Amino acid sequence: MRVYHDRRASYRSLASLQRDLQACRACIEAGFPLESWPVRNEHLRQRAYMYGQAPGIVEGQERRPWRGRAGQTLRRWLDLDEDEFYATFYCASVTRCYPGRAPSGRGDRTPTPREQELCAFWSEWELRILRPKLIVPVGGLAIRRLLGITGLASCIGSRYDLDGATAIPLPHPSGASGWLNSPANRELTAKAAELVRAELSGLLRG
Ligand code: SF4
Repeated sequence: MRVYHDRRASYRSLASLQRDLQACRACIEAGFPLESWPVRNEHLRQRAYMYGQAPGIVEGQERRPWRGRAGQTLRRWLDLDEDEFYATFYCASVTRCYPGRAPSGRGDRTPTPREQELCAFWSEWELRILRPKLIVPVGGLAIRRLLGITGLASCIGSRYDLDGATAIPLPHPSGASGWLNSPANRELTAKAAELVRAELSGLLRG
């Protein structure tokens, strides 16, 4: 089995994990054409965990999560300004480097199953160390990986227990899939966002 020199066998703090994660090149070593370095989290004491699909081009350039229009939409849904958002959520994703454009030219490339597996190492350790009370998977791929659920309509607007944490899925705010074009789906999204806001206010009170 290949040994990746940029990761330890185990981590005890997010600070040491972030130091190694921001230098990770495992997918490049495995031959995948990534177009950025991993995005980083500036805060390390959040109580909630957001889990998206992969950074976009802006996030890859800035090396910070949720910087583009999708991030603005997400913050509007949750009624959080930028400072509140980044202080509240540790922002992770299925993969952490900008994967580049899709070969078809429509949107960004979906990370391959192998890249998803290589990057799962980081989220497994983040969840073990952070032990968030609230986990918000965003978009179909993140929801499938975290909750094993396929199909947005069957889960948006619901809450789940995930190893003692509350998980509340949201659709991807980019709207690239067209799922948000339906008024019924937008209603489900509003309900899910309300669930997240209620859970956050409970966390802040607790
Ligand atoms: S996508 Fe994840 S595993 Fe792959 S190089 Fe980036 S940080 Fe490392």
